Amino acid sequence: MKCAKCGKTASKYNKDGFPVCSTHARVKISPPKCPNCKLKMVIREGKFGKFWGCVAFPMCDGIQKI
Ligand SMILES: [Zn+2]
Ligand SMILES: [Zn+2]
Repeated sequence: MKCAKCGKTASKYNKDGFPVCSTHARVKISPPKCPNCKLKMVIREGKFGKFWGCVAFPMCDGIQKI
């Protein structure tokens, strides 16, 4: 898994459930906004690993790499 903040290898999950590296273990992670509809994004897991997916999926298929 990858750190939701910097993309480096994550070693744990923070209290909000995001994968984080040791550097960002206590950093608050705010979800990015969907590039399509500007709603917030949530972590989803697909066959290629975790990614940010639009909260409005499947109505909106906006995704972003973590
Ligand atoms: Zn990090
Ligand atoms: Zn969207």
